[in-house]
Amino acid sequence: MRILVSNDDGVYSPGIAALAHSAKKFGDVRVVAPDVEQSSAGHAITATRPVRFRPTHIFDDIEAYRVNGTPADCVALGINQWDRVDVVLSGINLGLNLGNSTWHSGTLAAAKQAVLLGIRGIALSAPIDDETFDFSVLGPWIDRTLETLLATDEAKLVNVNFPSEPQGLQWTAQAVDQYNGKVVPDEDPMGRPVFWFTVIPLEEHREGTDLWAVEQGYVSVTPLRLDLTDYEALKRNAFS
Ligand code: MN
Repeated sequence: MRILVSNDDGVYSPGIAALAHSAKKFGDVRVVAPDVEQSSAGHAITATRPVRFRPTHIFDDIEAYRVNGTPADCVALGINQWDRVDVVLSGINLGLNLGNSTWHSGTLAAAKQAVLLGIRGIALSAPIDDETFDFSVLGPWIDRTLETLLATDEAKLVNVNFPSEPQGLQWTAQAVDQYNGKVVPDEDPMGRPVFWFTVIPLEEHREGTDLWAVEQGYVSVTPLRLDLTDYEALKRNAFS
């Protein structure tokens, strides 16, 4: 099995190292990731300049490339430069991608780009905001999740989120009833107004959703689709 690994935190993130080494137990791995952090880049592509694809020797045993582009660029290029990729893994993101925050996610966009190109895409995120986090705690759960998901073709696009201390896996729905994005005003050192775009944790989580599962200590596994069509509205609004 050929496994392309990407992310949005950049090729030097400890999260991508943890994912690539876990993926190596399941097939041939190649890493193609942004040369700098691209978190919250969403599904942007670089359309106004050419993009470079440069080898980087950060792993002893895994071929890796850095790209001066977005997560979606990395996956498109990775698939273009490596024949017969079977699956794209994206992550492990330093920070959860749950509910409506997934709309901004570069981690998930990398997996979506794979699906656009006809290849399975799996995004993986963890509740980490510390670059020195010890991934060995999650290691067995990363292995178990990959083992479970790679054993089946069920679900073309999957969004996985790990709690800090997992106790099992749970299939979930994306919680889209509340938005956790907030604009918070602040001041720069000169006293001029600036604004932070932040994600504030939500308090109420509907049972069966991704937010709920992670709060309960489960690895949340959400099958997603690219078709955003509102079929109910389409039915109601047919032109005659
Ligand atoms: Mn990120």
